[in-house]
Amino acid sequence: MTVGSSRLAPLRRRVLREALAVVTLTVLFGVAAVVWDLPERLTGPVAHVVLLLAFSHLLMMVFGKRRSDDLKAEYLSRDAAERDLLHRARHDDLTGLLNRSALLEELSRAREAGPVPVLLIDLDRFKDVNDVLGHSIGDALLVRIAGRLRSELPVDAVLGRLGGDEFAVLLPGRGQADAERVAEQALAVVGRPVTVEGTVLELEGSCGVAIEGDTAADLLRHADVAVYAAKEEHAGVTVYRPSMDADSRAQLTLIADLRRAIRDGELVVHYQPRVRLSDGRTLGVEALVRWQHPVRGLVPPSEFIPVAEQTGLIGPLTDAVLGNALAACRRWREAGLDLTVAVNLSVRGLFDAGLADRIATLLRDLDLPASCLELEITESVAMRDPGRALEVLHRLRDTGIALSVDDYGTGHASLAYLTRLPVGTLKIDRSFVQTMELDASDRTIVRSTIELAHGLGLRVVAEGVETRAAWDDLGRLGCDDAQGYWLARPQPFEDVAPCVAALEERLAVSRTS
Ligand code: C2E
Ligand code: MG
Ligand code: MG
Repeated sequence: MTVGSSRLAPLRRRVLREALAVVTLTVLFGVAAVVWDLPERLTGPVAHVVLLLAFSHLLMMVFGKRRSDDLKAEYLSRDAAERDLLHRARHDDLTGLLNRSALLEELSRAREAGPVPVLLIDLDRFKDVNDVLGHSIGDALLVRIAGRLRSELPVDAVLGRLGGDEFAVLLPGRGQADAERVAEQALAVVGRPVTVEGTVLELEGSCGVAIEGDTAADLLRHADVAVYAAKEEHAGVTVYRPSMDADSRAQLTLIADLRRAIRDGELVVHYQPRVRLSDGRTLGVEALVRWQHPVRGLVPPSEFIPVAEQTGLIGPLTDAVLGNALAACRRWREAGLDLTVAVNLSVRGLFDAGLADRIATLLRDLDLPASCLELEITESVAMRDPGRALEVLHRLRDTGIALSVDDYGTGHASLAYLTRLPVGTLKIDRSFVQTMELDASDRTIVRSTIELAHGLGLRVVAEGVETRAAWDDLGRLGCDDAQGYWLARPQPFEDVAPCVAALEERLAVSRTS
Protein backbone atom coordinates (compact mmCIF):
# COMPACT_ATOMS: atom_id res chain seq x y z
CA MET A 1 0.00 0.00 0.00
CA THR A 2 1.35 3.46 -0.84
CA VAL A 3 1.62 6.24 1.74
CA GLY A 4 -1.03 8.29 -0.16
CA SER A 5 -3.71 5.58 -0.23
CA SER A 6 -3.19 4.77 3.45
CA ARG A 7 -3.62 8.41 4.38
CA LEU A 8 -6.77 8.71 2.20
CA ALA A 9 -8.49 5.87 4.09
CA PRO A 10 -9.84 7.98 7.01
CA LEU A 11 -11.37 10.45 4.52
CA ARG A 12 -12.96 7.59 2.61
CA ARG A 13 -14.33 6.10 5.86
CA ARG A 14 -15.87 9.42 6.88
CA VAL A 15 -17.59 9.87 3.49
CA LEU A 16 -18.88 6.28 3.70
CA ARG A 17 -20.23 6.87 7.23
CA GLU A 18 -22.03 10.00 6.13
CA ALA A 19 -23.45 8.28 3.01
CA LEU A 20 -24.65 5.44 5.24
CA ALA A 21 -26.41 7.93 7.54
CA VAL A 22 -28.09 9.56 4.51
CA VAL A 23 -29.24 6.15 3.16
CA THR A 24 -30.53 5.09 6.61
CA LEU A 25 -32.44 8.36 7.08
CA THR A 26 -33.85 8.10 3.53
CA VAL A 27 -35.01 4.54 4.16
CA LEU A 28 -36.57 5.58 7.50
CA PHE A 29 -38.23 8.50 5.79
CA GLY A 30 -39.53 6.14 3.04
CA VAL A 31 -40.93 3.77 5.67
CA ALA A 32 -42.60 6.69 7.48
CA ALA A 33 -44.04 7.90 4.17
CA VAL A 34 -45.57 4.48 3.52
CA VAL A 35 -46.84 4.02 7.11
CA TRP A 36 -48.47 7.45 7.29
CA ASP A 37 -49.27 7.63 3.56
CA LEU A 38 -47.50 10.98 3.31
CA PRO A 39 -47.94 11.56 -0.50
CA GLU A 40 -51.71 11.57 0.09
CA ARG A 41 -51.41 14.10 2.91
CA LEU A 42 -48.96 16.44 1.10
CA THR A 43 -51.10 18.57 -1.12
CA GLY A 44 -51.27 22.16 -2.17
CA PRO A 45 -48.34 24.46 -1.27
CA VAL A 46 -46.64 21.75 0.85
CA ALA A 47 -46.24 19.57 -2.25
CA HIS A 48 -44.52 22.46 -4.04
CA VAL A 49 -42.17 22.96 -1.13
CA VAL A 50 -41.27 19.25 -1.15
CA LEU A 51 -40.65 19.37 -4.93
CA LEU A 52 -38.43 22.43 -4.45
CA LEU A 53 -36.50 20.72 -1.67
CA ALA A 54 -36.01 17.60 -3.82
CA PHE A 55 -34.70 19.74 -6.67
CA SER A 56 -32.31 21.71 -4.47
CA HIS A 57 -31.14 18.41 -2.99
CA LEU A 58 -30.35 17.20 -6.51
CA LEU A 59 -28.34 20.37 -7.19
CA MET A 60 -26.50 19.97 -3.89
CA MET A 61 -25.54 16.45 -4.90
CA VAL A 62 -24.16 17.57 -8.28
CA PHE A 63 -22.19 20.53 -6.88
CA GLY A 64 -21.18 18.59 -3.77
CA LYS A 65 -19.64 15.91 -5.97
CA ARG A 66 -17.62 18.53 -7.87
CA ARG A 67 -16.52 20.18 -4.66
CA SER A 68 -15.50 16.83 -3.21
CA ASP A 69 -13.45 16.03 -6.37
CA ASP A 70 -11.65 19.37 -5.99
CA LEU A 71 -10.98 18.70 -2.36
CA LYS A 72 -9.68 15.26 -3.15
CA ALA A 73 -7.30 16.60 -5.86
CA GLU A 74 -6.04 19.29 -3.53
CA TYR A 75 -5.56 16.74 -0.80
CA LEU A 76 -3.59 14.45 -3.10
CA SER A 77 -1.26 17.21 -4.31
CA ARG A 78 -0.67 18.41 -0.75
CA ASP A 79 -0.02 14.83 0.25
CA ALA A 80 2.56 14.40 -2.56
CA ALA A 81 4.33 17.61 -1.52
CA GLU A 82 4.35 16.45 2.08
CA ARG A 83 5.77 13.09 1.06
CA ASP A 84 8.47 14.81 -1.01
CA LEU A 85 9.39 16.96 1.97
CA LEU A 86 9.45 13.94 4.22
CA HIS A 87 11.73 12.13 1.76
CA ARG A 88 14.11 15.05 1.65
CA ALA A 89 14.14 15.36 5.39
CA ARG A 90 15.16 11.71 5.68
CA HIS A 91 17.52 11.30 2.75
CA ASP A 92 20.89 12.56 1.67
CA ASP A 93 20.52 14.84 -1.39
CA LEU A 94 23.64 13.57 -3.15
CA THR A 95 23.32 9.80 -2.88
CA GLY A 96 19.67 9.31 -1.98
CA LEU A 97 20.68 7.14 0.99
CA LEU A 98 19.18 7.71 4.46
CA ASN A 99 20.70 10.64 6.33
CA ARG A 100 22.01 10.60 9.88
CA SER A 101 18.75 11.41 11.70
CA ALA A 102 16.71 8.96 9.61
CA LEU A 103 19.31 6.28 10.16
CA LEU A 104 19.14 6.87 13.91
CA GLU A 105 15.34 6.56 13.77
CA GLU A 106 15.58 3.32 11.78
CA LEU A 107 18.17 2.03 14.20
CA SER A 108 16.00 2.78 17.26
CA ARG A 109 13.01 1.13 15.60
CA ALA A 110 14.94 -1.95 14.49
CA ARG A 111 16.50 -2.40 17.93
CA GLU A 112 13.04 -2.96 19.43
CA ALA A 113 12.98 -6.29 17.56
CA GLY A 114 16.51 -7.40 18.47
CA PRO A 115 20.22 -6.61 18.10
CA VAL A 116 21.35 -4.46 15.19
CA PRO A 117 25.06 -4.41 14.31
CA VAL A 118 26.19 -1.08 12.88
CA LEU A 119 28.99 -0.68 10.33
CA LEU A 120 30.62 2.64 9.60
CA ILE A 121 32.70 2.94 6.45
CA ASP A 122 35.09 5.79 5.89
CA LEU A 123 37.05 6.30 2.68
CA ASP A 124 40.79 6.75 3.06
CA ARG A 125 42.36 9.71 1.25
CA PHE A 126 39.02 11.01 0.01
CA LYS A 127 40.15 14.48 1.04
CA ASP A 128 43.03 14.15 -1.43
CA VAL A 129 40.54 13.36 -4.24
CA ASN A 130 38.57 16.50 -3.41
CA ASP A 131 41.67 18.65 -3.04
CA VAL A 132 43.46 17.42 -6.13
CA LEU A 133 40.66 16.55 -8.58
CA GLY A 134 37.91 18.88 -7.39
CA HIS A 135 34.56 18.49 -5.63
CA SER A 136 32.55 17.45 -8.68
CA ILE A 137 34.71 14.35 -9.13
CA GLY A 138 34.58 13.76 -5.38
CA ASP A 139 30.76 13.93 -5.47
CA ALA A 140 30.53 11.65 -8.50
CA LEU A 141 32.74 9.14 -6.72
CA LEU A 142 30.49 9.16 -3.64
CA VAL A 143 27.40 8.59 -5.81
CA ARG A 144 29.06 5.64 -7.55
CA ILE A 145 30.16 4.07 -4.30
CA ALA A 146 26.69 4.54 -2.78
CA GLY A 147 25.17 2.83 -5.85
CA ARG A 148 27.54 -0.10 -5.55
CA LEU A 149 26.89 -0.54 -1.85
CA ARG A 150 23.15 -0.47 -2.50
CA SER A 151 23.28 -3.11 -5.20
CA GLU A 152 25.93 -5.40 -3.71
CA LEU A 153 25.29 -5.53 0.03
CA PRO A 154 22.58 -7.91 1.38
CA VAL A 155 19.04 -6.74 0.66
CA ASP A 156 18.11 -6.45 4.33
CA ALA A 157 20.99 -4.03 5.01
CA VAL A 158 19.84 -0.47 5.71
CA LEU A 159 22.20 2.05 4.13
CA GLY A 160 22.89 5.63 5.03
CA ARG A 161 25.40 8.41 4.43
CA LEU A 162 26.35 10.30 7.55
CA GLY A 163 28.04 13.13 5.69
CA GLY A 164 31.36 13.60 3.93
CA ASP A 165 32.86 10.28 2.96
CA GLU A 166 31.17 8.33 5.74
CA PHE A 167 28.64 5.59 5.02
CA ALA A 168 26.69 3.54 7.56
CA VAL A 169 25.11 0.11 7.28
CA LEU A 170 22.58 -1.36 9.72
CA LEU A 171 22.18 -5.11 9.79
CA PRO A 172 18.96 -5.85 11.73
CA GLY A 173 18.85 -9.29 13.31
CA ARG A 174 22.41 -10.27 12.31
CA GLY A 175 25.25 -11.40 14.60
CA GLN A 176 28.89 -10.32 14.87
CA ALA A 177 30.22 -12.91 12.39
CA ASP A 178 27.73 -11.74 9.75
CA ALA A 179 28.55 -8.11 10.49
CA GLU A 180 32.27 -8.69 10.01
CA ARG A 181 31.63 -10.56 6.77
CA VAL A 182 29.46 -7.74 5.39
CA ALA A 183 32.09 -5.22 6.53
CA GLU A 184 34.77 -7.04 4.50
CA GLN A 185 32.38 -7.17 1.56
CA ALA A 186 31.72 -3.41 1.85
CA LEU A 187 35.46 -2.65 1.88
CA ALA A 188 35.94 -4.84 -1.19
CA VAL A 189 33.18 -2.82 -2.92
CA VAL A 190 34.84 0.47 -1.91
CA GLY A 191 38.29 -0.75 -2.99
CA ARG A 192 37.39 -1.62 -6.58
CA PRO A 193 38.61 0.99 -9.09
CA VAL A 194 36.02 3.57 -10.18
CA THR A 195 36.25 5.54 -13.42
CA VAL A 196 34.95 9.07 -12.98
CA GLU A 197 35.11 11.50 -15.92
CA GLY A 198 37.89 9.46 -17.47
CA THR A 199 39.98 9.26 -14.29
CA VAL A 200 40.48 5.86 -12.71
CA LEU A 201 40.32 6.21 -8.96
CA GLU A 202 41.35 3.54 -6.54
CA LEU A 203 40.46 4.20 -2.95
CA GLU A 204 40.60 2.11 0.16
CA GLY A 205 38.29 2.30 3.10
CA SER A 206 38.24 1.58 6.81
CA CYS A 207 35.29 0.03 8.58
CA GLY A 208 34.26 0.20 12.24
CA VAL A 209 31.79 -2.37 13.56
CA ALA A 210 29.69 -1.90 16.69
CA ILE A 211 27.55 -4.73 18.05
CA GLU A 212 26.38 -3.39 21.39
CA GLY A 213 25.35 -0.08 22.88
CA ASP A 214 22.69 1.12 25.35
CA THR A 215 21.04 3.45 22.86
CA ALA A 216 21.02 3.88 19.10
CA ALA A 217 23.23 6.95 19.45
CA ASP A 218 25.70 4.95 21.59
CA LEU A 219 25.92 2.25 18.94
CA LEU A 220 26.66 4.81 16.25
CA ARG A 221 29.27 6.45 18.43
CA HIS A 222 30.92 3.10 19.12
CA ALA A 223 31.09 2.40 15.40
CA ASP A 224 32.65 5.84 14.98
CA VAL A 225 35.32 5.10 17.59
CA ALA A 226 36.01 1.73 15.91
CA VAL A 227 36.40 3.28 12.45
CA TYR A 228 38.84 5.77 13.90
CA ALA A 229 40.87 2.93 15.37
CA ALA A 230 40.68 1.04 12.05
CA LYS A 231 42.14 4.05 10.25
CA GLU A 232 44.79 4.49 12.87
CA GLU A 233 45.97 0.91 12.64
CA HIS A 234 45.37 0.58 8.87
CA ALA A 235 43.39 -2.45 9.96
CA GLY A 236 40.55 -2.46 7.41
CA VAL A 237 37.77 -3.81 9.66
CA THR A 238 37.85 -3.16 13.41
CA VAL A 239 35.22 -4.19 15.97
CA TYR A 240 34.55 -1.75 18.82
CA ARG A 241 36.00 -2.49 22.27
CA PRO A 242 35.24 -0.30 25.31
CA SER A 243 38.98 0.33 25.84
CA MET A 244 39.02 2.25 22.54
CA ASP A 245 36.98 5.09 24.08
CA ALA A 246 39.78 6.45 26.20
CA ASP A 247 42.20 6.19 23.29
CA SER A 248 39.98 8.10 20.94
CA ARG A 249 39.27 10.87 23.44
CA ALA A 250 42.98 11.32 24.01
CA GLN A 251 43.47 11.32 20.25
CA LEU A 252 40.90 14.06 19.67
CA THR A 253 42.50 16.23 22.34
CA LEU A 254 45.85 15.59 20.71
CA ILE A 255 44.60 16.70 17.28
CA ALA A 256 43.13 19.94 18.67
CA ASP A 257 46.28 20.57 20.71
CA LEU A 258 48.57 19.91 17.77
CA ARG A 259 46.66 22.28 15.51
CA ARG A 260 47.06 25.00 18.11
CA ALA A 261 50.72 24.08 18.70
CA ILE A 262 51.57 24.51 15.02
CA ARG A 263 49.77 27.84 14.94
CA ASP A 264 51.36 29.13 18.15
CA GLY A 265 54.87 27.99 17.24
CA GLU A 266 55.16 25.30 19.93
CA LEU A 267 56.97 23.00 17.54
CA VAL A 268 60.73 23.17 17.91
CA VAL A 269 63.32 21.67 15.61
CA HIS A 270 66.42 19.91 16.87
CA TYR A 271 69.39 19.17 14.67
CA GLN A 272 71.54 16.03 14.64
CA PRO A 273 74.97 16.24 12.97
CA ARG A 274 75.77 13.90 10.10
CA VAL A 275 79.48 13.22 10.13
CA ARG A 276 81.83 12.13 7.32
CA LEU A 277 83.63 8.94 8.33
CA SER A 278 86.80 9.60 6.33
CA ASP A 279 87.75 12.82 8.14
CA GLY A 280 85.27 13.35 10.95
CA ARG A 281 83.88 16.54 9.43
CA THR A 282 80.24 17.51 9.92
CA LEU A 283 78.84 18.49 6.54
CA GLY A 284 75.21 18.53 7.40
CA VAL A 285 72.50 18.09 10.02
CA GLU A 286 69.12 16.38 10.07
CA ALA A 287 66.16 18.46 11.25
CA LEU A 288 64.04 16.51 13.75
CA VAL A 289 60.85 18.05 15.03
CA ARG A 290 59.73 18.02 18.69
CA TRP A 291 56.72 19.50 20.42
CA GLN A 292 57.43 21.77 23.35
CA HIS A 293 54.16 20.98 25.13
CA PRO A 294 53.19 23.33 27.97
CA VAL A 295 52.23 20.43 30.25
CA ARG A 296 53.85 17.30 28.85
CA GLY A 297 57.26 18.80 28.15
CA LEU A 298 59.25 17.85 25.05
CA VAL A 299 57.12 15.35 23.10
CA PRO A 300 58.93 13.09 20.57
CA PRO A 301 57.78 13.03 16.93
CA SER A 302 56.62 9.40 17.12
CA GLU A 303 53.74 10.61 19.32
CA PHE A 304 52.32 13.21 16.95
CA ILE A 305 53.64 12.68 13.39
CA PRO A 306 51.26 9.73 12.73
CA VAL A 307 48.30 11.84 13.90
CA ALA A 308 49.47 14.77 11.80
CA GLU A 309 49.70 12.49 8.77
CA GLN A 310 46.14 11.30 9.17
CA THR A 311 44.52 14.65 9.78
CA GLY A 312 46.09 16.82 7.12
CA LEU A 313 48.10 18.70 9.76
CA ILE A 314 51.26 17.25 8.22
CA GLY A 315 51.27 19.98 5.52
CA PRO A 316 51.52 22.91 7.96
CA LEU A 317 53.88 20.85 10.15
CA THR A 318 56.28 20.15 7.26
CA ASP A 319 56.13 23.83 6.29
CA ALA A 320 57.00 24.84 9.86
CA VAL A 321 59.97 22.43 9.97
CA LEU A 322 61.20 23.55 6.54
CA GLY A 323 60.90 27.20 7.54
CA ASN A 324 62.86 26.60 10.75
CA ALA A 325 65.51 24.42 9.11
CA LEU A 326 66.22 26.80 6.25
CA ALA A 327 66.30 29.83 8.55
CA ALA A 328 68.81 27.93 10.72
CA CYS A 329 70.85 27.08 7.63
CA ARG A 330 70.96 30.77 6.71
CA ARG A 331 72.21 31.75 10.16
CA TRP A 332 74.93 29.06 10.21
CA ARG A 333 76.13 30.26 6.84
CA GLU A 334 76.29 33.80 8.12
CA ALA A 335 78.43 32.49 11.00
CA GLY A 336 80.75 30.74 8.55
CA LEU A 337 79.37 27.23 9.09
CA ASP A 338 78.51 25.55 5.78
CA LEU A 339 75.98 22.94 6.84
CA THR A 340 73.36 21.31 4.65
CA VAL A 341 70.06 20.48 6.30
CA ALA A 342 67.96 17.36 5.80
CA VAL A 343 64.19 17.45 6.38
CA ASN A 344 61.95 14.38 6.67
CA LEU A 345 59.04 14.22 4.26
CA SER A 346 55.96 12.07 4.87
CA VAL A 347 53.56 10.47 2.38
CA ARG A 348 51.19 13.37 2.22
CA GLY A 349 54.08 15.80 2.01
CA LEU A 350 55.37 14.05 -1.06
CA PHE A 351 52.02 14.22 -2.83
CA ASP A 352 51.41 17.83 -1.85
CA ALA A 353 51.24 19.58 -5.21
CA GLY A 354 52.37 22.97 -3.89
CA LEU A 355 55.40 21.75 -1.93
CA ALA A 356 58.07 22.31 -4.60
CA ASP A 357 56.87 25.89 -5.15
CA ARG A 358 56.76 26.69 -1.44
CA ILE A 359 60.31 25.37 -1.00
CA ALA A 360 61.50 27.43 -3.97
CA THR A 361 59.96 30.56 -2.42
CA LEU A 362 61.58 29.86 0.96
CA LEU A 363 64.99 29.35 -0.66
CA ARG A 364 64.64 32.52 -2.67
CA ASP A 365 63.52 34.58 0.33
CA LEU A 366 66.49 33.36 2.38
CA ASP A 367 68.85 33.61 -0.57
CA LEU A 368 69.96 29.99 -0.20
CA PRO A 369 70.99 27.58 -2.98
CA ALA A 370 68.76 24.50 -3.41
CA SER A 371 71.81 22.33 -2.74
CA CYS A 372 71.72 23.18 0.97
CA LEU A 373 68.48 21.24 1.38
CA GLU A 374 67.99 17.48 1.37
CA LEU A 375 64.61 15.77 1.66
CA GLU A 376 64.43 12.35 3.30
CA ILE A 377 61.70 9.98 2.19
CA THR A 378 61.10 6.49 3.54
CA GLU A 379 60.93 3.56 1.14
CA SER A 380 57.29 2.96 2.05
CA VAL A 381 56.47 6.47 0.89
CA ALA A 382 58.06 5.85 -2.46
CA MET A 383 56.37 2.45 -2.80
CA ARG A 384 52.90 3.73 -2.04
CA ASP A 385 52.25 5.19 -5.46
CA PRO A 386 55.49 4.63 -7.41
CA GLY A 387 54.37 6.36 -10.61
CA ARG A 388 53.35 9.57 -8.94
CA ALA A 389 56.19 9.48 -6.42
CA LEU A 390 58.64 9.30 -9.28
CA GLU A 391 57.11 12.31 -10.97
CA VAL A 392 57.13 14.47 -7.81
CA LEU A 393 60.66 13.41 -6.88
CA HIS A 394 61.96 14.29 -10.35
CA ARG A 395 60.35 17.70 -10.09
CA LEU A 396 62.04 18.30 -6.72
CA ARG A 397 65.36 16.90 -7.95
CA ASP A 398 65.24 19.18 -11.00
CA THR A 399 65.19 22.20 -8.72
CA GLY A 400 68.55 21.08 -7.29
CA ILE A 401 67.32 19.70 -3.96
CA ALA A 402 69.10 16.52 -2.80
CA LEU A 403 66.96 13.47 -2.04
CA SER A 404 67.66 10.51 0.19
CA VAL A 405 65.96 7.27 1.17
CA ASP A 406 65.53 7.10 4.95
CA ASP A 407 65.27 4.03 7.20
CA TYR A 408 66.50 1.73 4.44
CA GLY A 409 65.90 -1.93 5.26
CA THR A 410 62.60 -1.49 7.11
CA GLY A 411 60.37 -1.44 4.02
CA HIS A 412 59.95 -3.79 1.13
CA ALA A 413 61.67 -1.87 -1.60
CA SER A 414 64.55 -3.53 -3.41
CA LEU A 415 67.71 -1.56 -4.00
CA ALA A 416 67.14 -2.01 -7.72
CA TYR A 417 63.75 -0.28 -7.43
CA LEU A 418 65.17 2.50 -5.31
CA THR A 419 67.76 3.33 -7.94
CA ARG A 420 64.95 4.26 -10.31
CA LEU A 421 64.20 7.11 -7.90
CA PRO A 422 66.28 10.25 -8.39
CA VAL A 423 67.93 9.86 -4.97
CA GLY A 424 71.60 10.35 -4.22
CA THR A 425 71.82 8.95 -0.68
CA LEU A 426 70.73 5.86 1.20
CA LYS A 427 70.37 5.95 4.99
CA ILE A 428 70.66 2.49 6.56
CA ASP A 429 68.12 2.10 9.36
CA ARG A 430 69.49 2.24 12.87
CA SER A 431 68.02 -1.17 13.75
CA PHE A 432 70.83 -2.82 11.71
CA VAL A 433 73.59 -0.44 12.72
CA GLN A 434 72.89 -0.56 16.47
CA THR A 435 73.36 -4.33 16.53
CA MET A 436 76.01 -4.85 13.84
CA GLU A 437 78.73 -5.37 16.42
CA LEU A 438 76.75 -8.13 18.14
CA ASP A 439 74.85 -9.76 15.31
CA ALA A 440 76.85 -11.11 12.38
CA SER A 441 73.87 -11.15 10.03
CA ASP A 442 73.14 -7.46 10.70
CA ARG A 443 76.77 -6.66 9.96
CA THR A 444 76.48 -8.60 6.70
CA ILE A 445 73.37 -6.61 5.77
CA VAL A 446 75.18 -3.34 6.49
CA ARG A 447 78.26 -4.44 4.55
CA SER A 448 76.41 -5.67 1.49
CA THR A 449 74.10 -2.64 1.47
CA ILE A 450 77.13 -0.36 1.43
CA GLU A 451 78.70 -2.34 -1.44
CA LEU A 452 75.50 -2.52 -3.47
CA ALA A 453 74.65 1.14 -2.93
CA HIS A 454 78.15 2.21 -3.95
CA GLY A 455 77.84 0.03 -7.03
CA LEU A 456 74.71 2.00 -7.90
CA GLY A 457 76.43 5.33 -7.33
CA LEU A 458 74.70 6.17 -4.04
CA ARG A 459 76.21 7.76 -0.95
CA VAL A 460 75.58 5.75 2.25
CA VAL A 461 74.73 7.09 5.70
CA ALA A 462 74.60 4.78 8.74
CA GLU A 463 72.02 5.87 11.34
CA GLY A 464 72.15 4.88 15.01
CA VAL A 465 75.91 4.86 15.58
CA GLU A 466 76.00 4.41 19.34
CA THR A 467 79.55 3.18 19.96
CA ARG A 468 83.10 3.90 18.98
CA ALA A 469 83.34 0.27 17.76
CA ALA A 470 80.47 0.84 15.30
CA TRP A 471 82.08 4.08 14.07
CA ASP A 472 85.41 2.34 13.48
CA ASP A 473 83.82 -0.66 11.82
CA LEU A 474 81.73 1.50 9.47
CA GLY A 475 84.92 3.28 8.47
CA ARG A 476 86.46 -0.07 7.58
CA LEU A 477 83.38 -1.04 5.57
CA GLY A 478 83.70 2.12 3.49
CA CYS A 479 80.48 3.78 4.68
CA ASP A 480 80.37 7.49 3.80
CA ASP A 481 78.62 9.24 6.68
CA ALA A 482 77.36 8.40 10.15
CA GLN A 483 74.75 9.76 12.48
CA GLY A 484 74.15 8.61 16.04
CA TYR A 485 74.21 9.25 19.75
CA TRP A 486 77.91 8.38 20.03
CA LEU A 487 78.62 11.35 17.78
CA ALA A 488 75.90 13.75 18.87
CA ARG A 489 72.28 13.73 19.92
CA PRO A 490 69.75 15.94 18.17
CA GLN A 491 69.98 19.38 19.80
CA PRO A 492 68.54 22.90 19.72
CA PHE A 493 69.74 25.36 17.10
CA GLU A 494 71.99 27.37 19.41
CA ASP A 495 73.93 24.29 20.58
CA VAL A 496 74.76 23.04 17.08
CA ALA A 497 77.77 25.23 16.26
CA PRO A 498 79.64 24.55 19.55
CA CYS A 499 78.72 20.85 19.29
CA VAL A 500 80.09 20.56 15.75
CA ALA A 501 83.36 22.21 16.82
CA ALA A 502 83.71 19.93 19.86
CA LEU A 503 82.86 16.87 17.80
CA GLU A 504 85.47 17.59 15.13
CA GLU A 505 88.06 18.07 17.84
CA ARG A 506 87.07 14.82 19.58
CA LEU A 507 87.22 12.85 16.33
CA ALA A 508 90.59 14.32 15.38
CA VAL A 509 91.98 13.25 18.76
CA SER A 510 90.39 9.79 18.49
CA ARG A 511 91.93 9.30 15.04
CA THR A 512 95.39 9.96 16.33
CA SER A 513 94.95 7.87 19.47
P1 C2E B 1 64.48 9.38 11.33
O1 C2E B 1 64.28 10.35 10.23
O2 C2E B 1 65.03 8.05 10.99
O3 C2E B 1 65.36 10.11 12.40
C1 C2E B 1 66.33 9.50 13.14
C2 C2E B 1 65.81 9.17 14.48
O4 C2E B 1 66.76 8.36 15.15
C3 C2E B 1 65.62 10.37 15.38
O5 C2E B 1 64.55 10.09 16.25
C4 C2E B 1 66.91 10.40 16.16
O6 C2E B 1 66.81 11.09 17.38
C5 C2E B 1 67.13 8.94 16.37
N1 C2E B 1 68.54 8.63 16.57
C6 C2E B 1 69.61 9.23 16.05
N2 C2E B 1 70.74 8.65 16.47
C7 C2E B 1 70.37 7.62 17.26
C8 C2E B 1 71.09 6.64 18.00
O7 C2E B 1 72.29 6.57 18.00
N3 C2E B 1 70.37 5.74 18.69
C9 C2E B 1 69.03 5.76 18.73
N4 C2E B 1 68.40 4.85 19.43
N5 C2E B 1 68.31 6.69 18.04
C10 C2E B 1 68.99 7.61 17.34
P2 C2E B 1 63.42 11.11 16.49
O8 C2E B 1 63.94 12.50 16.52
O9 C2E B 1 62.63 10.60 17.64
O10 C2E B 1 62.58 10.98 15.17
C11 C2E B 1 61.92 9.80 14.89
C12 C2E B 1 61.33 9.84 13.52
O11 C2E B 1 60.30 10.80 13.44
C13 C2E B 1 62.33 10.23 12.44
O12 C2E B 1 63.11 9.13 12.10
C14 C2E B 1 61.41 10.68 11.34
O13 C2E B 1 60.93 9.57 10.63
C15 C2E B 1 60.25 11.28 12.11
N6 C2E B 1 60.38 12.74 12.09
C16 C2E B 1 61.14 13.54 12.86
N7 C2E B 1 60.99 14.82 12.50
C17 C2E B 1 60.14 14.83 11.44
C18 C2E B 1 59.57 15.85 10.60
O14 C2E B 1 59.87 17.04 10.71
N8 C2E B 1 58.71 15.45 9.62
C19 C2E B 1 58.39 14.14 9.44
N9 C2E B 1 57.52 13.84 8.47
N10 C2E B 1 58.88 13.17 10.20
C20 C2E B 1 59.75 13.50 11.19
MG1 MG C 1 65.25 10.95 8.77
MG1 MG D 1 65.91 7.19 9.71
